[in-house]
Amino acid sequence: MEGNAEEEAKTIRQRIAEYLERMKDPRSVADIARMIGTDRSENIIQEINHALKSLKAKGITFKILPATCRKCNFIFKQTKLEVKVPSKCPGCKGELINPPILQRK
Ligand SMILES: [Zn+2]
Repeated sequence: MEGNAEEEAKTIRQRIAEYLERMKDPRSVADIARMIGTDRSENIIQEINHALKSLKAKGITFKILPATCRKCNFIFKQTKLEVKVPSKCPGCKGELINPPILQRK
């Protein structure tokens, strides 16, 4: 069981890296998850961050547009290399969040 999970994680990571490498238009984290065909959203963020690091090592870099609140337009802090998906807005306590968007530099 653990072995399978490990294998699956590797495959998802590779698929994300391949997808990101070919990506021309900006895509949100939710779009990427949909393209990869996984709904394990808590894992996908981790996998995207891994993929971003390995692509950076190959000289492929991305701009990350931060998550924003749909209700009050609060902009979440975003570090340069790591995608973060907040679940709640500290401004209005709303839970409708636009996920971060990745764009090839
Ligand atoms: Zn808000």
